[in-house]
Amino acid sequence: MDTAERERDDDRLKEECGVIGVYTPDQEAARVAFFGLFALQHRGQESAGIAVSDGEKVRWEKGMGLVSQVFDQEVLDHLKGHMAIGHTRYSTTGASALRNAQPIMCQTHIGEMAIGHNGNLINARELRKELEAEGEYFDTTSDTEVMARILVKEIHKGPEHAVAEVMRRAKGAYSCTVITPRLVIGFRDPTGIRPLVAGTLGNGYMVASESCAFGPVGGTVTHELEPGEMVIIDEKGMRFACGAKSPRKAMCLFEFIYFARPDSHMYDTLLYTARERMGENLAKEHPVEADIVVPVPDSGIPAALGFSRESGIPYREGMMKSRYIHRTFIAPDQRLRELGVRMKLTPMDEHIRGKRIVLVDDSIVRGTTTKQIVKLMFEAGAKEVHVRITAPPIKFPCFYGIDMASKGELAAAVMTIDDLKNYLGATTLGYLSIPGAVKAVGKDMNDFCLACFSGDYPIPVPLDLKKHAFDDPPEVGELAAISGGQYLLPVS
Ligand code: SF4
Repeated sequence: MDTAERERDDDRLKEECGVIGVYTPDQEAARVAFFGLFALQHRGQESAGIAVSDGEKVRWEKGMGLVSQVFDQEVLDHLKGHMAIGHTRYSTTGASALRNAQPIMCQTHIGEMAIGHNGNLINARELRKELEAEGEYFDTTSDTEVMARILVKEIHKGPEHAVAEVMRRAKGAYSCTVITPRLVIGFRDPTGIRPLVAGTLGNGYMVASESCAFGPVGGTVTHELEPGEMVIIDEKGMRFACGAKSPRKAMCLFEFIYFARPDSHMYDTLLYTARERMGENLAKEHPVEADIVVPVPDSGIPAALGFSRESGIPYREGMMKSRYIHRTFIAPDQRLRELGVRMKLTPMDEHIRGKRIVLVDDSIVRGTTTKQIVKLMFEAGAKEVHVRITAPPIKFPCFYGIDMASKGELAAAVMTIDDLKNYLGATTLGYLSIPGAVKAVGKDMNDFCLACFSGDYPIPVPLDLKKHAFDDPPEVGELAAISGGQYLLPVS
C-alpha cells in the first residue's frame, strides 16, 4: 500500500504481523501453515509467505496480498516437507514491497534458514551498522533481517545460543518463528510485548502468534511462551529454553482491546470475555440514559454486549459491515472515496431512527472514522449519540510495531475530551480508564505495556526515534486537514 492508499484506508490501528511454525511428521506442513495463516490474516494483509523444509532443503514462496491471493493448490504442491513456518505482514519498518515480505531467507553454515517476525526493533539501525561492520550484508530494509543476520552468525553454535544472542543484542518487540533444514524455532522478546503460543498438532507440534490458529488445523495449545522464552521443535520433540531473563512482563494491552481475534486466549483469558468485561466497566465508569446500545462492527460487539448487560439498556445492531470490501485491490474513484465509511458500514435506519444510542467502539486514533460513524447515526435518525470507547485515550505513539499516527495526529493527545466530543459531533463521550481496561483482563498494571496511553515505555526508546514521532501538536482547528500515512520509522 502506498501512502495515498493508506490515507484512503480508515484511521484504525494496524496490526503488524502474524507468525506460525509447524512440525507435522504425517502431513504436508505447507498446507497446515496455509490454513493456520488464514486464521492469522487479521494481523496483516499486505503480504504472506511460507517456507518449508523436507529435512534437507528449505524452500519458500511469498508474495504481496492476502494468504488466499499468494497461495493456490499449485504453489502449495511445490512446497514439500514436514516442517514449515508462515507469515502474514503489515509493514511497520521497511517498505511494503516484495523484497520485505517474509519469511526472510538467509544462507547459514548449516544450510538455508528463514525467519518470520511480529513486532518492531527499536535499535535496528545501530544493530545493522554494527553487523555491517562485522562483515554482514543486508538484502532488505526490514528490521527482521537484523535478527536473521545474528542468527546466521551464531546458529552453528546451536539454536539456544543463537536465539540467546538475538535476545542479548536486539531491543524491542519480537515474536518470531524460524526454520532451518532440521528445526523449527519460536521465540518471544524478554518483555513479551507480542504474543506467542505453542502446542501439539497430532503427532507433531506447532507455534503461532495466537491460539486461534490452532483450532482450524486440529492443534491444541499447551503453553503460552514466557517473555524471553524459546521453543525448539525437531524430530526429538518440542523443548523450551530460556533465552534471556525477563526484566518485566509488558504484553501489549491493545492485543486484548482490539488486535487479537476475540476467540484467542492470552494470559489464560478468552479475549471475547475480556472485551465483554471492558464494556461492563465502561458502563460503570460512564453511565448514560439511552434506548439502545449499538456496536461498531465487528470489534465493538463484545464490549457493547457487556455495556448492555451492565446498564440494562437493550443491545441492538445498528449497522452492517461489508465484510469483503478490504479484499479488493481496486482503488475507489473520487466520488466513491467521498462516501468514506459508508463504503464499509451501512446503517439500519429502522433500528436507529428516533433512538438515543450508546455507540460502543474499541478505540479512537485520529478520530476521523468515529466522526463519520457518528454522522452516519444522526443521518439515520438517531436522537442522541453517546460514544463509549474501550481503549483509554491514546496519547503517545507506539514504537513496538503498531502503526499509529505520530503524537500530533492522535486526537486524544491534541484535544480535551470535551473538544474531542465536539469534534466527533457526539452527544457525550466516555473512555474506559487504564485500570478499568486492565481489570477486565484480570491481571496487574505491571503485566502490560501501556505506553500509548500513559507514555511509560517499558523498553526505553532512543531519543532520535522519539523526536521523529513527538512532533508539535497542531491546533485543534487544523485537525481536519491532517492527513494520514505518517510513519514512525523512516524506511532505511
Ligand atoms: S505502545 Fe500501545 S500499541 Fe504499542 S505495544 Fe504498547 S500498548 Fe501496544
